[in-house]
Amino acid sequence: ETQKETLGFQTEVKQLLHLMIHSLYSNKEIFLRELISNASDASEKLRFEALHNDALYEGDTDLDIRIEFDKEAGTVSIEDRGIGMNRQDVIDHLGTIAKSGTAGFLSSLTGDQAKDSQLIGQFGVGFYSAFIVAQRVDVYTRRAGESADNGVHWSSTGEGDFTIASIDKAQRGTRIVLKLKEGEEEFADGFRLRSLVRKYSDHISIPVKMLKEALPGETEEGQEESKAPELESVNSATALWTRSKSDLNDEEYQEFYKHISHDFSDALTWSHNKVEGNLEYTSLLYVPENAPYDLWNREAPRGLKLYVQRVFIMDQADQFLPLYLRFIKGVVDSNNLSLNVSREILQKDPSVDKLRSALTKRVLDMLSKLAKNDADKYAKFWTTFGQVMKEGPAEDMANRDKILKLLRFASTHSGTAEQNVSLEDYVGRMQEGQKKIYYVVADSFNTAKNSPHLEVFRKKGIEVLLLSERIDEWMMSQLFDFDGHSFQDVTKGELDLGETESEEEKQKLEEVAKEHEGLIERLNKVLEDKVDSVRITHRLTDSPACLVIGDYDMGLQMRRIMEAAGQ
Ligand code: ADP
Ligand code: MG
Repeated sequence: ETQKETLGFQTEVKQLLHLMIHSLYSNKEIFLRELISNASDASEKLRFEALHNDALYEGDTDLDIRIEFDKEAGTVSIEDRGIGMNRQDVIDHLGTIAKSGTAGFLSSLTGDQAKDSQLIGQFGVGFYSAFIVAQRVDVYTRRAGESADNGVHWSSTGEGDFTIASIDKAQRGTRIVLKLKEGEEEFADGFRLRSLVRKYSDHISIPVKMLKEALPGETEEGQEESKAPELESVNSATALWTRSKSDLNDEEYQEFYKHISHDFSDALTWSHNKVEGNLEYTSLLYVPENAPYDLWNREAPRGLKLYVQRVFIMDQADQFLPLYLRFIKGVVDSNNLSLNVSREILQKDPSVDKLRSALTKRVLDMLSKLAKNDADKYAKFWTTFGQVMKEGPAEDMANRDKILKLLRFASTHSGTAEQNVSLEDYVGRMQEGQKKIYYVVADSFNTAKNSPHLEVFRKKGIEVLLLSERIDEWMMSQLFDFDGHSFQDVTKGELDLGETESEEEKQKLEEVAKEHEGLIERLNKVLEDKVDSVRITHRLTDSPACLVIGDYDMGLQMRRIMEAAGQ
């Protein structure tokens, strides 16, 4: 070893390591999934880069992943023949965390083990999870295409620092050796490792191989001597999305979800589709159960894993879904794109638009199905991602009707803050003669619910949607109608309750207006500078007066937001 140096971990890595070792202890076996996942990523990256530069294969196109163990020594090793890393890669990837928002994420951890393990799972534990079971981790790696003497040896006990040294490494790729902690020796066992590979990594498309073990009772006797130990594949090694639906069970789908999303919890639902014809693609799209920690960070990476003819092309291809569906995770594999695509080319490729609109429909259909078939899960979805979905009607005109059906509101029907009323529910409960969908927007649910504007609606038994999220007024300003019914803010303009009004009531109102003509005139004079006009209303039953906003004026909530923004 030459050029050996000791470097400190970035502060965030130290914090993450500490928290991870403590909070993920009851899930410690996932280290193997993470390391195999990285080995598979590295193999796919090599395959992709080799499309343009065949020399990277160094004459060896075999891309398997090998797992070995040594019971006596208490070690487990995972070896790939993927892209590998050079010295700078190692320092960048195995000493720092490159994810944006890491500091914010770490400060959101509470110290409560159950909650934290959830959060850490969503953040993605990755390579560092090796330290849950290992007292020392050694990484031997060499970047594909570089000479043998450009190998690197990284070693750490997962405390404050790591060493890095130059080595000779004939084989390209990465070998990771875990020296297990005392008490974790159970992992240096063929049966245990095999069952973990099957459980967590069966769907990895690269073969994961282990040495064949002699079955009990099958001794060396009678076998040929000096026979080289044989390797066998432990996983099924076919890309999961290429398999047929009927061939896959829920656990397999869930494990694949965890592999591509780096999420720790199960997905809420998924949709797997193969489409042939002009536009040829396979997609497997998942709705996560929990919001990622960076859902509201506009710069946060998002998008699908893109494959072209089974070859991995890129992560976070964000061209295939609109922004309001940024929480969807999944894979799209298309035959319409060329293997040479890059992000720049993707922007111009006309098939991308077609794929985007097809995949958007898939997601909306999957959500409609969930709403129809599993109200509890849909309620969970709405609580987690409803506010993001509310960006949809403005962003995606083409699918506005579908999106509108997916929206859920609180309303005067139940009077609780729970958002569980769909527009279809609302329309189904409309009074005879009612033409419009009525809503009120306020700063809080309670203000909305107690608005004096609701009095006449209560009296007439007309339902009103109660909106109180920041995005609501803006969203409502983007909606025109649903199922032929326009939307009406109950605080705005003339309230035309249309045919819900009886002749008798109309007449009475006219009489009252006549009777108080003088009063109205005087009030209009006195309040001339303060309001547009004063008029008799049937809006109120108990309160003597209320303020109403013109039909085309900005609503109160919007006004406050603009004021807060200094406008
Ligand atoms: P993630 O996989 O989410 O990027 P990890 O913590 O698992 O995060 O890995 C960090 C980085 O280390 C990877 O992005 C990759 O660049 C590098 N890396 C890890 N394992 C390997 C490997 N076997 N071969 C090549 N690079 C690797
Ligand atoms: Mg990883």
